[in-house]
Amino acid sequence: MKILVPVKRVVDANVKVRPKADESGVDLANLKMAMNPFDEIAVEEAVRLKENGAATEVVVVSCGSSASQETLRTALSVGADRAILVDCGETELQPLAVAKLLKAVCVEEAPKLVIAGKQAIDDDANQVGQMLAALQGWPQAAFASKVEIVGDGAKVTREVDGGLEILEVSLPAVVTADLRLNEPRYAKLPDVMKAKKKPLDTKTPADLGVDIAPRLKTLKVSEPPKRQGGGKVADVADLVNKLKNEAKVI
Ligand code: AMP
Repeated sequence: MKILVPVKRVVDANVKVRPKADESGVDLANLKMAMNPFDEIAVEEAVRLKENGAATEVVVVSCGSSASQETLRTALSVGADRAILVDCGETELQPLAVAKLLKAVCVEEAPKLVIAGKQAIDDDANQVGQMLAALQGWPQAAFASKVEIVGDGAKVTREVDGGLEILEVSLPAVVTADLRLNEPRYAKLPDVMKAKKKPLDTKTPADLGVDIAPRLKTLKVSEPPKRQGGGKVADVADLVNKLKNEAKVI
């Protein structure tokens, strides 16, 4: 069974981002970039499925500029077998375009399972996995906290409001990884070296026959309003007074 894992290069989760001065987007100049954290979890899950015999090959794919090769090499260093870069240059990529590119890759690669992250921490879209499943007409199980391959299908535990939901999906299917699915491993130095020799193919959107032109226009990106400082109340009566007369919420 082949597993395809889409991985996105995003700003490192520990970096504080700022809007550009003209509020046209986020200022990415000179920022540390990394693999989207949910995609690290997705890669780890695919590699574990291979290690326990449920899968035979793990292919990682990233859509973006040539800098995304670094993200793909990271995935190769923790156990993915081969990588595909869909080189889109500096064109802004929106979730629908990514889903269409991934669909085209799925048609070529015919994976039995796609494990994506539940969302990219830069745009927080939470759309690509769901759109890919819809475009392919495949079942989907989003926000997975456990994935088991059972016979011809997968049993997926999902984190939903107030509890867990267990779904059985037939394969091929799309699963998206939630935070508690696993704890990704760190790459060992020899594996980082070995990853440099693993195959990395490059394709373009034109090779895949996909139009990646943006469909949505970002009007403005700005900082959230500054939070007002807190204050101490003397007693319950003071609190009630403030809630009534200052905050006007009761
Ligand atoms: P999103 O819907 O943008 O929040 O992204 C959800 C998931 O789709 C991510 O965690 C990745 O697994 C995948 N994805 C999003 N953008 C890309 C991209 N440019 N290249 C590869 N995979 C992506």
